[in-house]
Amino acid sequence: MGLSKIQVLLQPVGAVPDSVLKFLQEALAEQFDGCTFSISKSIEIPSHAFDERRDQFKSPVILDLLDKETHCDKILGICDFDAYAEDLNFVFGQAQHGGRTLAVYLPRLRQEFYGFKPDVSLFLQRAVKEAVHELGHSFGLGHCRLPSCVMYFSNSLRDTDKKGKEFCSVCKLVMASKAKG
Ligand SMILES: [Zn+2]
Ligand SMILES: [Zn+2]
Repeated sequence: MGLSKIQVLLQPVGAVPDSVLKFLQEALAEQFDGCTFSISKSIEIPSHAFDERRDQFKSPVILDLLDKETHCDKILGICDFDAYAEDLNFVFGQAQHGGRTLAVYLPRLRQEFYGFKPDVSLFLQRAVKEAVHELGHSFGLGHCRLPSCVMYFSNSLRDTDKKGKEFCSVCKLVMASKAKG
């Protein structure tokens, strides 16, 4: 895909199960041929990112925090807490468009968040799709109109579950052209 030599750091913020990090590392390497994905030690959740009134974390503050790490091209925060951004009630993930930092937020990807029986495999599939989607943004991609493409905007988990973890052929081309600069 022309993204070779790009190094992406998976940065757990607070406690994140190893099994989740390893799964993401492998699944992302499959989708971004040539990119290197490494897992960093966890960093502390910054207390100033917490919004007491909403009982949620502020995603833009998390992205700023991630930007302080230096040696990688992209820093993907893996966060097992709920967050929001701007006028949205919550976000599954957020990325600086064409930038270095991005994050995914795991709690709302779990069935048990909605009172259903846990489904680990479904949870992991959702986490991969959200991570691939945010990485797509960080490589400069916008939203795609194809509901099966990973860059389709997920308004709800129903959208997330319907789409694949792959880029459609158009998004692939756009990303390849951006990678060339
Ligand atoms: Zn998006
Ligand atoms: Zn697409």
